[in-house]
Amino acid sequence: MFEILDRDPHSAARRGRLRTAHGPVETPAFMPVGSHGSVKGLDPRDLEEVGAGMILGNAYHLYLRPGVEVIREAGGLHRFMHWEGALLTDSGGFQVHSLAALCKVREEGVEFRSHIDGSRHFLTPERMIEVQEVLGADIIMTLDDCPGLPASRERIGAAVRRTIDWARRCLEAKKRPDQALFAIVQGGLEPDLREECVAALVAMPFPGFAIGGLSVGESREGTRETAASVAASLPDLAPRYLMGVGKPGELVEMAAAGIDMFDCVLPTRNGRNGTLFTSEGTLNIKRSEFRHDERPIEEGCPCHACSHFSRAYLRHLYQSRELLGLRLNSIHNLMYYLRLMEGIRISLKTNRFREFREVFHRSGLREARAGLSESG
Ligand SMILES: [Zn+2]
Repeated sequence: MFEILDRDPHSAARRGRLRTAHGPVETPAFMPVGSHGSVKGLDPRDLEEVGAGMILGNAYHLYLRPGVEVIREAGGLHRFMHWEGALLTDSGGFQVHSLAALCKVREEGVEFRSHIDGSRHFLTPERMIEVQEVLGADIIMTLDDCPGLPASRERIGAAVRRTIDWARRCLEAKKRPDQALFAIVQGGLEPDLREECVAALVAMPFPGFAIGGLSVGESREGTRETAASVAASLPDLAPRYLMGVGKPGELVEMAAAGIDMFDCVLPTRNGRNGTLFTSEGTLNIKRSEFRHDERPIEEGCPCHACSHFSRAYLRHLYQSRELLGLRLNSIHNLMYYLRLMEGIRISLKTNRFREFREVFHRSGLREARAGLSESG
């Protein structure tokens, strides 16, 4: 399912290819987030245009609304949302804790009230596999117990043991042979609990592993150190997915630590807030300095927004609360993230990742990518 094509001699970074029933995905990969079966504001044509290979859906959200039966009738999530590329669904372990009300975790499963209408639900690992088999994503995730941080060591230890037990139950419940089930590593910022979780999960036949329970309230250094040490302890030949991280610079560093897959709401959420990623840092399109600015968001960016529209126009759209502005901003930000990932892959292929990483942190994406096209 996964092959490693190139390795960086100076770090743990690697370039690979993930084979799915909906085509290959080049890694390191960034997955735009479409929790509710839609990457906010964009349609599948936009996603193809910015170069998204795989996107993310969320079983917790889709189970609550529209409900599994609606998606079953549509023939699965791919057909329901008209997405022909690769798809990954998260089980919703994180969302149950962060969104649902009165969440009670028991050995059997998790009981909660819907954040939408207050209805009562009880989800087990077996049920979450059943739901994800109906959704039909190419990669599905085990149900994990994901406490927010800070949490007591006792609570994190209990979450680790429950996550391991639930992973085993997910594996036993899985029926569809065309989906790959990835396990999620928990353990907060406690190195020994992370190790315990990794040791138990890698002893089971999972084709890939995710690092969960980060970006849930801890410091950035905490995220980075934990993700890097967990990545180093996972099997070399299996894909590694860091859930919910992060900013562009963090993606570069985490790719250097050997992470293959990322997802994050930042490019689309920031896009809707008018915060745009550029090689000079983030740009806030609301500011009055852009009122007469005829330049694109970023010179040389091939996205639809930068090819056709000025900063002045995008600022006007934002100020007038026009929906087109949110869409164009999201298209640009996703293009920025996907071109960053492409840059990382090209640099790995041409053995220039170390240089790419340095230039990116010093001078931004444009310079880093320019370095890749120079011969030598
Ligand atoms: Zn652009």
